Amino acid sequence: MSKCFLFTDNFSGGNKKTQYDKIFIETGTREEAIEIFQEEFGIDPLLYSCSCCGVDFLIDEFLNLDEATINDRAKIFIIERGCLKPEEHGKFIDPSEIIPQGYYLAWNDRTEYISLEEYKKRNKDKTIFLK
Ligand SMILES: [Zn+2]
Repeated sequence: MSKCFLFTDNFSGGNKKTQYDKIFIETGTREEAIEIFQEEFGIDPLLYSCSCCGVDFLIDEFLNLDEATINDRAKIFIIERGCLKPEEHGKFIDPSEIIPQGYYLAWNDRTEYISLEEYKKRNKDKTIFLK
């Protein structure tokens, strides 16, 4: 049974350790994931480059890749102010984006998810998926 482990660069010591922001590794155990990581990048993710910043990579465990990426794939709906037809003048943006002037956040449960394939395509420079 395969799980998904997410390695997030913690910028320990102030610098990024690989070219990626997020590294997803699908395998059975945390120990295997760390081995795969070391083989791919030649570095130990559990090093502390700086004692005050903490460990080089934070490791989170998820049931699968779908669950590991679900928050990143969420889009929230915003509506233009004064607009009487929100369905025609609203749009989906990333939750991390600043809501542009003239728009307001729709109701909380109005969320859309982009597909895993689309997520991979859009983030191909910032993420890597290993097995
Ligand atoms: Zn530090």
